[in-house]
Amino acid sequence: MEPLTNRSKKLVHKPMNLAERAYLPVIVHGMAITMGHFFRKKATIQYPEVKREFAPVYRGVHILKRDENGAERCTACGLCALSCPAEAITMTAAERKPGEELLYREEKYAAVYEINMLRCIFCGLCEEACPKEAIFLSDSIAIANYDRESLVYGKDRLVEPMDPKGHINTVEEAERQKWFKSR
Ligand code: SF4
Ligand code: SF4
Repeated sequence: MEPLTNRSKKLVHKPMNLAERAYLPVIVHGMAITMGHFFRKKATIQYPEVKREFAPVYRGVHILKRDENGAERCTACGLCALSCPAEAITMTAAERKPGEELLYREEKYAAVYEINMLRCIFCGLCEEACPKEAIFLSDSIAIANYDRESLVYGKDRLVEPMDPKGHINTVEEAERQKWFKSR
């Protein structure tokens, strides 16, 4: 019967010589491939000593921002939680009491605000939904851990930190935001 294509290959049952029976040619061929990889650029890096440069659009761990006076911007409106496709955000709202104006910018604030980093897909929709510019995704990577509970981030890890003198340790704008503005 005629073959359908001319790509067929006829097998020749030639007896193997001594070197072939000892697998020498294929071992040498394999070693040559391995040696070739020694001189190529490595795909791996020595993390954590060496860190990869992220793309300008990288989205990392969330930050809950303070205003210029140090008051929390979040007003517990819930829009971020509503827009979250992973249902990763939960919060409990509370009413600001007299004398707390320097702590919370609006009359309503988030007494509890949690993001489950195991659910989060770092899509950034919470950042886009927020009407108060209270939440944004920073350049920091999410920290790995051995238990699930410690990956539910509360306000202690999300709100922009302040030093003992009351100065805000401002978390800089993410490279992504600068990149979008420059376009
Ligand atoms: S980044 Fe996306 S998935 Fe993560 S909390 Fe925000 S909206 Fe939800
Ligand atoms: S972070 Fe923004 S969107 Fe989310 S509850 Fe606070 S103010 Fe509303």
